[in-house]
Amino acid sequence: MNELLQNLIKLQSLEFGEIKEKNAGATIAELRDKIPAQILAHYDRLVTKGKKGVAAVRNQVCTGCHMRVPIGVVTTLMHDTDIQICESCGRYLYLSDSASPAAPAGSAKPKPARKARSPKKSLQLVSTPGPEMLLAMGEDARTKIQPGLRSIPG
Ligand SMILES: [Zn+2]
Repeated sequence: MNELLQNLIKLQSLEFGEIKEKNAGATIAELRDKIPAQILAHYDRLVTKGKKGVAAVRNQVCTGCHMRVPIGVVTTLMHDTDIQICESCGRYLYLSDSASPAAPAGSAKPKPARKARSPKKSLQLVSTPGPEMLLAMGEDARTKIQPGLRSIPG
């Protein structure tokens, strides 16, 4: 895992009393010294609001706010290329199961993430032209036939 993330997680664990260390104060100071000021400031802002600054991602869901995390964010976390922030709650994210050895990055399921609120509406329309279009065509055909039938004098 990203060293910066590891430091953030450890810092949070110490500050929230999840880890008991004899020299916790010294370790906290040491960690704060390692973490870039900008990241630390964001972390502190969350903590002062009573939130945790770092949250795990489980099953592509942020455990901080239970909102779905975009697959791109998860992929970035898997590859350890950059640190990521949850779009919903602003917490720093880490993969909770990345520590387990039985999780090769290559075996990621190709399951498409179906989001209820997708900003790409045009893409959705293109991908689902089937039933709706057929229905519209059927109705159109019916409305064309009906007036014809009615015009026949009874
Ligand atoms: Zn979140």
